Amino acid sequence: MNKEFIDTIIIGAGLSGIGAAYHLQKQCPTKSLAILEGRDALGGTWDLFRYPGIRSDSDMFTYGYDFKPWTDKDSLATGEKLLPKKMASRKKYALITK
Ligand SMILES: Cc1cc2nc3c(=O)[nH]c(=O)nc-3n(C[C@H](O)[C@H](O)[C@H](O)COP(=O)(O)OP(=O)(O)OC[C@H]3O[C@@H](n4cnc5c(N)ncnc54)[C@H](O)[C@@H]3O)c2cc1C
Repeated sequence: MNKEFIDTIIIGAGLSGIGAAYHLQKQCPTKSLAILEGRDALGGTWDLFRYPGIRSDSDMFTYGYDFKPWTDKDSLATGEKLLPKKMASRKKYALITK
């Protein structure tokens, strides 16, 4: 029987899981990593809730990822802008590919 070992498993691909994956890949590049997400989409809260007017309460200069500085002119983000494709491009950061 083939056994596969993974050093770190992150449960959930919301903002926390994606942020954790980024830092783990950066700081522990030799360790394997997997994110297990129960839904078909990334983004957790920000993908789940799509009602009109949804936005962050915190300003994005503190709520956003430090590895993807917020450059938008508005300090509060709409839900759409908080989706992973905007917050941490999967291609750019090679997230969720290992
Ligand atoms: C309208 C609104 C505004 C908000 N504004 C702010 C704000 O301004 N500042 C702030 O700090 N917070 C705010 N929040 C809170 C926000 O939810 C968190 O900041 C953050 O998005 C939570 O991210 P998370 O990754 O920890 O959890 P989630 O976004 O909940 O993601 C968890 C993920 O884990 C997955 N999951 C859970 N259990 C399992 C399992 N057993 N197996 C596999 N997958 C699993 C879920 O499907 C989900 O995708 C706001 C929330 C809402 C709804």
